[in-house]
Amino acid sequence: MNTSHDYLRSTTRRSGAEALRLLQCHAVLRQRSATARSLCFFVGISIVIHHTNVWIGLAAAVLITVTEAADLYLLRDVTRAGLSLGNYRKFRKLCTISALVQAIASSVIIAIIWVVPPGASGHLYALAFWGAATVYAGMSLGYNRQIAMVHICVYCAAVMAMYLFELSFGATPTPGQINEFLAVLLASYLIGIGLIAMERQSKMIVAQQREFSEQKVRLERMNDALEEKEKYARKLALVAENANDSVIISTPRGVITWVNETFCRATGYTSEEAIGRRMGDLLNGEETDPQAVQEIIGVIETKKPIRTQLINYVKSGEKKWVEVSIFPILDDQGEISMIINVERDITAQKEHEIQLSQARVAAEEGARAKTDFLATMSHEIRTPMNGIVGMADLLIQSGLNDEQKVFAETIIQSGDSLVQIINDILDLTKLDADKLDVESVPFALMSCFETSLSLLRPIASDKGLELRFSETSPIPSTVTGDPGRLRQILLNLLGNAIKFTSEGEVHVLVGWDENSHELSVEVRDTGVGIALERIEAIFEKFSQAESDTTRKFGGTGLGLTISRLLAEKMGGNITAKSSLGEGSSFFLTLPLTEVASVQDNKEEPPAETNVEVLTGLKILVAEDNKTNRLLIDKYLSKYDCELTFAEDGAAAVAAAKSIQPDVILMDISMPKLNGHEATRQIRKEPTCASIVIIALTANAFQSDKDECIAAGMDGFLTKPIKKRDLLKGIAEYAPKRQQ
Ligand code: ADP
Repeated sequence: MNTSHDYLRSTTRRSGAEALRLLQCHAVLRQRSATARSLCFFVGISIVIHHTNVWIGLAAAVLITVTEAADLYLLRDVTRAGLSLGNYRKFRKLCTISALVQAIASSVIIAIIWVVPPGASGHLYALAFWGAATVYAGMSLGYNRQIAMVHICVYCAAVMAMYLFELSFGATPTPGQINEFLAVLLASYLIGIGLIAMERQSKMIVAQQREFSEQKVRLERMNDALEEKEKYARKLALVAENANDSVIISTPRGVITWVNETFCRATGYTSEEAIGRRMGDLLNGEETDPQAVQEIIGVIETKKPIRTQLINYVKSGEKKWVEVSIFPILDDQGEISMIINVERDITAQKEHEIQLSQARVAAEEGARAKTDFLATMSHEIRTPMNGIVGMADLLIQSGLNDEQKVFAETIIQSGDSLVQIINDILDLTKLDADKLDVESVPFALMSCFETSLSLLRPIASDKGLELRFSETSPIPSTVTGDPGRLRQILLNLLGNAIKFTSEGEVHVLVGWDENSHELSVEVRDTGVGIALERIEAIFEKFSQAESDTTRKFGGTGLGLTISRLLAEKMGGNITAKSSLGEGSSFFLTLPLTEVASVQDNKEEPPAETNVEVLTGLKILVAEDNKTNRLLIDKYLSKYDCELTFAEDGAAAVAAAKSIQPDVILMDISMPKLNGHEATRQIRKEPTCASIVIIALTANAFQSDKDECIAAGMDGFLTKPIKKRDLLKGIAEYAPKRQQ
């Protein structure tokens, strides 16, 4: 149990501010008791005048008034704003000195009263004033012990001094005087006890006041915080009330305790209908995703906010997609006190998403259908073209007159153009769909130019054009890139330059930029030129410089489009400069990576095929199309080789096992068993391991070639095929397995 001492000890630790306040209390106390003190002084001065004379009385009055006035003047400064933490020590010192002076002055008057009245009455008067002065001084003990003690000590010292003086210089003390002295000691003791009790009392009051004021400050702070919270809560309530999203407050178990207006509008439930119901029971239905519901329930465990999407059912039974944000609110103990759910209607967004994904699927299906259609068309056109071009090829060699020869050659050229158009369209479709892959292999740059130039040189010289090649700066011998696609671009630019030039020259200028590692190619001609306003248009699909270009020069307007797309795909570009009637320049730039020289596997210029290789060869032709079988028979029958035909894949497998041919020319699209499957079955047969299988197909994509090689074939030839190409292909692949 706390005693008053403990309480005092615990509460008497003063702060600087409190010391100021207590000094001010002391000053107030002194000021308030000034009138009572003045009355005492008046009585004392009257006694002095009565027993001495006016002058001594006046002198005493002046002394006491001056010291009292000085003290009050000082104390007035203390009670006013003059006192601060900075000057507290100074004021306390001044007050202490003033108290000392005043106590001495009062003691002088008490001493006069002690001696002047006759008999024992002087002592009585003096002791009465001494007692009163000591009690008044002691009242300040609780506020400023130092000043109070100065007063008390001076008064006590004065009385003691007076007794000592009497004992030292007077006669032997009488029993009455001794009793008086003892009574004074007793009175001192009793006054002392009283003052100590008073001091404690006032200290307790001071401590209580301090406690009260601290409590008051705490309370004020709490009130302020509460007010802030209330304001914040009012704002939140306002926001929640007027939010565009539905706001639902529920207990941790999901029982709704509050909903806003938007919730009522969105769901059709009034707040009375909603409050008290469990959210799941009210809003979830058969299409609500159970996983999303589990996620929401999981908030009770994790105590973390989540966001999810699910289907809610409104009062009318209509489904709504909502995005739910769940915020668990925790109390001081960290437990969930309530859950705030904010729900946003995203039905329109979801529908849009579904439409978009349906549109995407439709677009993908469309693109796939387009690719399939083109692939089928390519195959279907190439198959009869094989007959047309092949037969025309045979026709030329059958001893026609000159006019007939021109007719047959025109058939072949038209067939080639048709196949070129198919190739271009397939390339363009792939480029548009970003499905065309470019290679990155090391190749000899110069031989790429040489092959392109040597292919077109005969055409140029037929037209009487000079085909020149110059290096403006040395080009690297080996680079990595796609040589096939580079050649395709060069052939297109060179082919156009020759096609659109009737006299003069075609000049190819190549250079290499060391800094940007870029190859630059200019194909310059002295041909018809292009009008300035048509220059960009010629790079568009199916676009030509003039409306009569096709009639005059042929072509479809796809070559430059494909070339530019290819150049861009490889990180470069193609631009053109031209003036009508004066010729054109096409500029190709292509970033390429220089590498250490590789073996120059440059293509040999087309040479006459060594037909010797056919001698004694057993060739199995797996082909379901009658015309194509006839064509190959005509191509090969005059050579010293043994031809066998199989009309489907299964027959091809059987024939391969029985006759053990050296070479199989394998069509891919065949009844019963396609070319791939037939190849796989043949390859399973150990006795057939050395047979050379060459695909001869109208499926002309790189992916088709890859598939054939993966199935176990050795070579790949595409239809329509001319005799020369077939012989070359057999001559190239046939020795492969025998090696
Ligand atoms: P194509 O040559 O098959 O028509 P291109 O896309 O290769 O298709 O060329 C588009 C058009 O650009 C050509 O039809 C022609 O009008 C014009 N053109 C291309 N190269 C030249 C050139 N060197 N001189 C004049 N016109 C050209």
